[in-house]
Amino acid sequence: MASPLPLSADPDPSFAELIAGRPHLSADPASGLMVEEIPLARIAAAVGTPTWVYSAGALRRRARALTGALGGAGLTASVHYAVKANTSLAVLRVLADEGLGADVVSEGELLAARAAGIPGSAIVFSGVGKTEREMRLALAEDILQINIESAEEAEALSALAAGMGRTARVALRVNPDVDARTHAKITTGKSENKFGVAIDEAPALYARLAAMPGLKPVGVAVHIGSQITTGMAAYRAAYARVAELVTALRAQGLPVERIDCGGGLGIPYRDEPAPTPEALAGAIKGTLHNLGLPVMLEPGRWIAGPPGLLLASVVIQKRGASSRFLVLDAAMNDLVRPAMYDAWHGILPVGATALQAPLSPADVVGPVCETGDTFTRGRDLPDLPAGSLVALLDAGAYGAAMSSTYNMRPLAAEVMVDGARFAVVRDRQDHAALLAGQRLPDWIGNAAG
Ligand SMILES: *Cc1c(COP(=O)(O)O)cnc(C)c1O
Repeated sequence: MASPLPLSADPDPSFAELIAGRPHLSADPASGLMVEEIPLARIAAAVGTPTWVYSAGALRRRARALTGALGGAGLTASVHYAVKANTSLAVLRVLADEGLGADVVSEGELLAARAAGIPGSAIVFSGVGKTEREMRLALAEDILQINIESAEEAEALSALAAGMGRTARVALRVNPDVDARTHAKITTGKSENKFGVAIDEAPALYARLAAMPGLKPVGVAVHIGSQITTGMAAYRAAYARVAELVTALRAQGLPVERIDCGGGLGIPYRDEPAPTPEALAGAIKGTLHNLGLPVMLEPGRWIAGPPGLLLASVVIQKRGASSRFLVLDAAMNDLVRPAMYDAWHGILPVGATALQAPLSPADVVGPVCETGDTFTRGRDLPDLPAGSLVALLDAGAYGAAMSSTYNMRPLAAEVMVDGARFAVVRDRQDHAALLAGQRLPDWIGNAAG
């Protein structure tokens, strides 16, 4: 297991700063930490913990901020929310109601998008390893676009489409060999990454796509990585290479109808400077606008991250030899980002008194039998005796979606807050569901009892 997270030198943002940066949060002097008009203590009392809590208002605000920035830059653009960031049907429906389409990477995500009411005509299918079954479903649903990541995949899709008497609209995902300077596990646009085809090989392959039965090439797609916070340089470099490619394709007489600009826009988990939608829209405009083509965006984290939090209880406050440990009832199986990417998440006490109490450092950990099950070390937090509630912030993206049942821990409940209402949008998994589907063959001892 990875070693514990390193201690950081510069001071963490205060509780007040964390709340001020997240408009759906507030600290009520009587009720403590609130999401919109609902005290988190009320949700914990009704639903238990750990529980994911999403703000519908924040989801809507962010969807509008993104579409507004693209429109404000004079771009003809469509936004296809990357479903993998958060697959909750309630989240998908809120975003669909804002006019967003979907970017999916599996059969399950395609079915979820459809179940949430997103029409096939607004769905893009990305991913480096689409199975035959997934391609068939995409063809049957006549989705907007399938992003092709290799010549081999194009051949397979062509054969299936021709066999089904369908025409697949395809975009060629190119690998621009640009370093997004994000975490190595989530960079996707360098030549050594598995994603897309080398941009130098794209003109020949695009021409082949145009000649293949059952395929209609409609554009070029690029996605260089996730949690990009280093400014617009990487985006500009990638889009400039795409613009050159599109110009070359057109010179060959090949049709290009649109450009898929991918996702990856980062968010400030701590207090890191993060690019705005306006900056991204400006980068797109500066590099691609002259081509006069509609653009597509596939944001996941930027939309769904900040609106979600993980509400947890302190199981025990343990004074170790050198540290204070807050052991939560949430763990790395719920929110894996700290263990997997060394990610920093804001942690707020929920109680009104705790939000004002004196602070001292604590290591916040889960109960899973891994040293990596550590959310943070040395974080300034108040005294939080067993039963106290805490909120791990900005957990709406790659939170519930990446959960597992490691240690036979059921998947946590999910709640949507909208103004003064809240509802459970996914039941807490019960232990019977964890055992369901398991079988003991009769040749294993006498274990059947
Ligand atoms: C993961 C992914 C996205 C979304 O990335 P975010 O960093 O969440 O915005 C978009 N497009 C593709 C192809 C992806 O794989």
